[in-house]
Amino acid sequence: MTAAVATGLIAADPAGLAVADEVIRSLELPASGIAVADPATAETIGFIPDVDVDGALAAVRSADAAGAAWARTTPRKRASVLHGWWALLVEHTEQLAHLITREMGKPLGEARAEVKYGTDFVRWYAEEAVRPGGNFRPAPDGGADIVTSRSPVGLAVLITPWNFPLAMATRKIAPALAAGCAALIKPATLTPLTTIYAVDLARRAGVPEDLVQVVTTSSSSSFSAAVLRDERVRKVSFTGSTPVGKQLLQLASENVLRTSMELGGNAPLIVFDDADLERAVAGTVAAKLRNGGQSCIAANRIYVQDGIADDFVDALTARLAEASVGNGFGAGTVVGPLIDDRAVAQMASFTADAVARGAVLRTGGTGHDGVGNFFAPTVLDHTPATAQVATSEIFGPIAAIQRFRTEADAIERANATEFGLAGYVFTESLDRALNVADALQTGLVGINQGVPSNAAAPFGGVKQSGLGREGSAEGLDEYQNIRFYNISRRPSA
Ligand code: NAD
Repeated sequence: MTAAVATGLIAADPAGLAVADEVIRSLELPASGIAVADPATAETIGFIPDVDVDGALAAVRSADAAGAAWARTTPRKRASVLHGWWALLVEHTEQLAHLITREMGKPLGEARAEVKYGTDFVRWYAEEAVRPGGNFRPAPDGGADIVTSRSPVGLAVLITPWNFPLAMATRKIAPALAAGCAALIKPATLTPLTTIYAVDLARRAGVPEDLVQVVTTSSSSSFSAAVLRDERVRKVSFTGSTPVGKQLLQLASENVLRTSMELGGNAPLIVFDDADLERAVAGTVAAKLRNGGQSCIAANRIYVQDGIADDFVDALTARLAEASVGNGFGAGTVVGPLIDDRAVAQMASFTADAVARGAVLRTGGTGHDGVGNFFAPTVLDHTPATAQVATSEIFGPIAAIQRFRTEADAIERANATEFGLAGYVFTESLDRALNVADALQTGLVGINQGVPSNAAAPFGGVKQSGLGREGSAEGLDEYQNIRFYNISRRPSA
């Protein structure tokens, strides 16, 4: 157990709670429905509507009706509405950050970073809206010109997870609106309030009233079964776990919907002997502890080369042992609560399984007895490749280290998974960094750094980590259909 968890958690600053609760009051939530809890205190902080299938289909109808006019707006109009939304979100950074910490638990500083990341998507797609794309090419055999144009794909259903409640929503809503689509978003019931607030700000910024619908429901499978079969829906963009993604792909096949799938990860992080130790440890701490490890790109399998392993493990253990655990509103909190008590039980079970198979517990490994879903940052050394922490997505603050001898060995083991979202390489050799990055079967690679995400980058996975990309110019493609005109052309007489 870390000192922080053993001797007591960092308590919340009451002023932070007050800011969050004022934002929640402004949302005018219903007096009953699905309860939303603070994962640090287990308090119910509000209720959200439990929308049934009829309600969800009514939202489809309203969004679809509003979408027809939106699809005809000029790119400049869409850009200026998105710029307005971005400005309002930025103006309300503190409110958004406090709301994220209250409903999701992450430390306030990280919540502010999420607001920066989440609002970056809105600004990016405000800028991309005026570049819808399209091109001209002569037919190779002559006699025709081929012109391509882009049109909005149509009503998009957006389903988001609980771990980045603002960024996962804006990463979908902003490109949908930029492309000229209407959207229906279903946030996770664990953290729906940030989405409700952000969409409220979108309306205040001039997004037409019905264009973006928020649907909250306790029955997500009935929701998707009804909504994805509705012929007005043309697209589903999902971020969440791989098993749910597979179910949605099957449903989407019935109406042959366009799909974007941002699914689970099991990221390898590889530290070579020639890495800068300080940089590698700092990058690993960032890739492991951000959001308490509850990130799809969190470092999951940490491979360390034999020559640097002892020093690396000692340094990482020291850093994780001193990482303060507590309420996200507490001054100095580095690791907040996990999302629910099942996640805490899962961390305890992962640790017990790894130790039973021969891993060495260097720090952490336990939760705490009081209220709140806390688990100590944990280091497991000499983790066997068969341990559950090596084969499953951990989604918590456990750094599970495996040691390796050769570059080829590291690459082979890193790729021995059905997942392929993120990978990390730490080395001072440019050749090795690029060669290993090329060999990793992942959609993105952090080279000598642990936080690779950026609104300007095409985020997404390969293998069972997903289909499609979010962010960057490529993220707009996901909401566009390409059409070509073949223009017959006779040579001049
Ligand atoms: P989840 O799959 O349980 O839920 C995600 C969302 O899908 C929630 O809104 C949930 O209510 C909804 N959902 C669940 N079943 C559904 C169904 N049958 N029909 C329609 N909607 C359904 O995932 P989670 O626990 O919220 O999030 C954690 C997972 O998300 C992890 O696997 C993580 O790796 C992944 N994730 C991926 C990315 C990425 O960009 N690749 C980003 C964040 C999280």
